[in-house]
Amino acid sequence: MNSLARPYPLTPALSPKGRGSAFLWFAAALALSLVLSTTAADAEAKVELWDGQRALADVAALLKFTPRSLDTAGHQLTIDYIKAELAKIHVDPVATQRWVFEDDSGRAVAMTNIVARLDPENPRRVILATHYDSIVRAYRDPKNPNAPMPGANNSASGVALLLETARVLSLSQKPPFGVDLIFFDGEEGPKSLGAGDPAWHALGSPYFAAHLKDYYPQGKPEKAVVFDMVCDKDLALKAEPFSLANAATEVRKYWSLGAKITPSSFPAATTPYPISDDHNALAEAGIPSFLVIDFDYEPYFNTSADTIDKCSAQSLETVGRTTLQYLYSP
Ligand SMILES: [Zn+2]
Repeated sequence: MNSLARPYPLTPALSPKGRGSAFLWFAAALALSLVLSTTAADAEAKVELWDGQRALADVAALLKFTPRSLDTAGHQLTIDYIKAELAKIHVDPVATQRWVFEDDSGRAVAMTNIVARLDPENPRRVILATHYDSIVRAYRDPKNPNAPMPGANNSASGVALLLETARVLSLSQKPPFGVDLIFFDGEEGPKSLGAGDPAWHALGSPYFAAHLKDYYPQGKPEKAVVFDMVCDKDLALKAEPFSLANAATEVRKYWSLGAKITPSSFPAATTPYPISDDHNALAEAGIPSFLVIDFDYEPYFNTSADTIDKCSAQSLETVGRTTLQYLYSP
């Protein structure tokens, strides 16, 4: 459970003693009424609290667990880290959706999607999702394709984005939606090689989509946003064609909010081809879903150079603050 309803601090105590006290009490009453009328009106995002440096610290923490691919110690340490960070802001207990995936060779792999629900009583739901597994080796590395994959941008940045968003929401008035933060497992596929595996397919999001009723017995969430590769210093988020086909109105809303924060990060251009990610399974399950990604990440993509120095706190902050604005603009 979380504590999203924490109110803003009200006016400090004022002494009724002495001359001018009537004025002070009037001022206090006025301030209180203003605060109350604000809380009664539409809730607003505390956008300025979203801290890119704090999110970047999450990226640094996650990189210590590398590799974070399926069936590794770092994979479990990543799960533990996500749950521990959520517990710090009282999002606890967090649901874990667990199952066993058997690959072509008969290897059984323990899988875990992490689902953290904010304001669980709210019937209106929105999903913010990312994947937390990383690829097992830097297969695109020109010098050493067997090098361990750091994965600062792919995939620690998305995890950092969700964790920092949860922190800010825990200090803010509730948005109109209950927010479900989902950390998907197995986005990099059965071989943990992502696009380096010709038979790639995501594992965690299709499993979640197939069991949607376990989490949404009353009806589907209204929309879903999936984040991947969002910390690039030179951040340019282009709308992705599958997302546009599936959730055009939401994509346009998100991009127009983002362009007010950092215009250069939200160009009008779209990616030249659809990008497969966890939004596909959610969309196919009937949830309007879109992907927020900067896929132009050369020459670092899936190489050993996907390290934290390629990331910026500013980029994370741009995406985080846009997401907050989006949550409070139904
Ligand atoms: Zn990814």
